[in-house]
Amino acid sequence: MQLRLPTSVSEARECLAEGAIPVGGATLVWAAWQRDGFPEQAVSLRKVPEATAVGGGVLGGAVLLGQVDDRVPQVLRHAAKGVGTGAVRRAATVGGNLAGSSLRDLLPAAMVLDARADVLTADGVYEVELAEVVAKSPVLLALRWREPVAGVYAKVPDPAGGEVPSIVAAALDTEGVLRVAVREGYAVSGGSAGADGGGLEELFAGELSGVSEAGRELVREQVSRVRGE
Ligand SMILES: Cc1cc2nc3c(=O)[nH]c(=O)nc-3n(C[C@H](O)[C@H](O)[C@H](O)COP(=O)(O)OP(=O)(O)OC[C@H]3O[C@@H](n4cnc5c(N)ncnc54)[C@H](O)[C@@H]3O)c2cc1C
Repeated sequence: MQLRLPTSVSEARECLAEGAIPVGGATLVWAAWQRDGFPEQAVSLRKVPEATAVGGGVLGGAVLLGQVDDRVPQVLRHAAKGVGTGAVRRAATVGGNLAGSSLRDLLPAAMVLDARADVLTADGVYEVELAEVVAKSPVLLALRWREPVAGVYAKVPDPAGGEVPSIVAAALDTEGVLRVAVREGYAVSGGSAGADGGGLEELFAGELSGVSEAGRELVREQVSRVRGE
């Protein structure tokens, strides 16, 4: 396998056009490649400046989870810190987590920041919604968001005893909008409400209607925290 290390977006586009498969830290793909065979060429974005940016409302897709620090909002930092083990976080990338894994601990945090994604194709760079990242696993160049006023994140064992920990993230934006996202099992749901103290029960009746009673309790706790109550 040839590992290609482009140093610009245009070189990375060429790699994709020539059929190179995106790779982050290979924490997930390595075992599959050993089992099923290695691709002829893979492309890592770790030398592309846009993919390694951290801070100022941007997090590059090639940034290692262990490098996600206080240059990004606490809610996202907390999410990255909670992924796997230290060894995983030293190798795994933001793009591998959001676009290439099934757990995607970063997703609820990105949702409450109302983040958008810059994705890379052989034809160019496009801004898409997170839903498209989840649905189509495009090559993630970077996440972008506007700084929130406050954000909180909790990852706890599934109260129903399932293998996948539950996650609740919440953030308040500068316009007073409260965003909440919940992962139960592999299902992630999210919605927004006014920050005037209302709206949560409406969310439970609407976008968060699938969330369990235990999940709702966790949401209420986190929403109180983010509102500073
Ligand atoms: C022991 C262990 C524990 C884990 N625990 C957790 C956990 O608690 N929570 C959690 O969320 N995850 C967990 N994971 C999964 C972890 O998040 C992934 O291993 C990691 O995010 C994959 O990142 P990577 O950079 O190594 O991806 P790779 O293994 O390199 O690639 C994985 C997939 O992503 C694609 N990909 C890579 N980079 C990009 C990109 N920029 N854009 C689009 N696609 C890309 C690849 O083509 C491939 O299909 C765990 C993994 C391990 C091994």
